[in-house]
Amino acid sequence: MVEVGGGWWRIALIAAVAGCSRNPAPPLAGPSSAPVMQTPARVALIAAPVEEDWKGLGDEAAALLSQYLRINTTNPPGNEITAARWLSEALRREGIESRIFEPAPGKANLYARLAGDGSARPIVLLNHMDVVLASPEFWTVDPFSGVTKDGYIWGRGALDMKGEGIAQLMTMLILKRAKVPLKRDIIFLATSDEEIGAGVGAAWIAEQQPDLVRGAEFLLNEGGTTRAKTGSQGAVEYYAVGTTEKSPFWLDVTARGTAGHGSRPTPDNPVHRLIRALNRVAEWRTPLVVTPAVERSFRDLATIERDTTMRRWLSDIRTAIRDSVAVRQLTADLTYNALLRNTISITGVKGSTKTNVIPPTASAAIDVRLLPGQDPAAFLADLVRIIGDTAVTVKPQGPNWPATESSSETEMFRAITEVARRRHPEALVTTMMLAGFTDSHYFRRMGIASYGLGPFPLTQADSRGVHGNDERISLEVLRAGVRFYYEVVSRVAAK
Ligand SMILES: [Zn+2]
Repeated sequence: MVEVGGGWWRIALIAAVAGCSRNPAPPLAGPSSAPVMQTPARVALIAAPVEEDWKGLGDEAAALLSQYLRINTTNPPGNEITAARWLSEALRREGIESRIFEPAPGKANLYARLAGDGSARPIVLLNHMDVVLASPEFWTVDPFSGVTKDGYIWGRGALDMKGEGIAQLMTMLILKRAKVPLKRDIIFLATSDEEIGAGVGAAWIAEQQPDLVRGAEFLLNEGGTTRAKTGSQGAVEYYAVGTTEKSPFWLDVTARGTAGHGSRPTPDNPVHRLIRALNRVAEWRTPLVVTPAVERSFRDLATIERDTTMRRWLSDIRTAIRDSVAVRQLTADLTYNALLRNTISITGVKGSTKTNVIPPTASAAIDVRLLPGQDPAAFLADLVRIIGDTAVTVKPQGPNWPATESSSETEMFRAITEVARRRHPEALVTTMMLAGFTDSHYFRRMGIASYGLGPFPLTQADSRGVHGNDERISLEVLRAGVRFYYEVVSRVAAK
């Protein structure tokens, strides 16, 4: 099917000019302005897609992703408004109205909703439009070319997370096009500022526009992993669905003492104090804690673990953490270690800027990550006790939150499991805790069961492009992911 073109060109130009007059900062020129206006052929659907429709729908997703990747949303500054207008147009072509919020110049959050009959609560499809910096000198192609080459679509954001954004967008388009009767509203929410961990994206929605998502039962977001088996065409090893994330608790440690000349040492040099305090922090082995999500995923992972000893430990992690040999080996794995305890990384140290000056204070930054169920205040009290020096203070850098967990005993989790099993009976479906964090915590804290869903089966090597160089997604994987997303959402939302 051919789509109208000229009208959108004009709207885009007017919008770009209007945007510039209010805010001259983010340039709209460059590779992003022209090609994104083209519209791909659409698949005409009169009912939910059948096998032969998926080829065309996959092509459409590829064309859309390629366009989306040409919009440079490197954050900072993000310039998500350009991406939001493009998404809005893609939705409008399908007759889906959207609303763009502009919380700051050049920034945007886009909201659209497909109405269900209200007999069940809504589902939110959450995606962030911003991407991290790409250094073109390390790339094989221009990171904002969206080029298709060697069976892959290349570009910053292909995996994190414009590819998943397109899977969500396609889900909206297909449901609307095929007039699938829905029992739940489907909310499409594209946000700014995920990559800077704060700002005017999901945080802004949660604070300023919580009514947009209030009452929703489920949310799907990045933060899951679908691991393709290396070397075996198309097979999947596991689907790890993110049900919880550790919570960052970043701290400033400051030591006070007496300033002076470096040639005449003072007994309470604050840099010496700080080093002694940090040494105690670095030596502290925080207790091992088994949380329900980790226990479940370890038990599941045990079923595909080849090493028999490791298999035994993973299958009963509560017993294993009482065995010193098991503890040594398990915690030698950086991921397992991060999943089993609150972690501490000392990441920044500041003293004097002059070698011959003893400063009045010295400070350090500590990146603490807390497990779900942990109380930040209690952790802080423990840390102060470990430091054991009243001349050393510890202060949180900003607000923090206790990590929460979404249940795996839900209609959504069951749907994910069923869709995954139908396509890949060989695959394990399990829960996962992220050692890092996404925007899901804003919504978990609003009572929405939020899942990290990785629709694209990727090998470890395929995932390397995330925040790295040559980020790309294979056309085949994109197709599979779009279909997977649609099948999960329609299973939970269709009447
Ligand atoms: Zn991301």
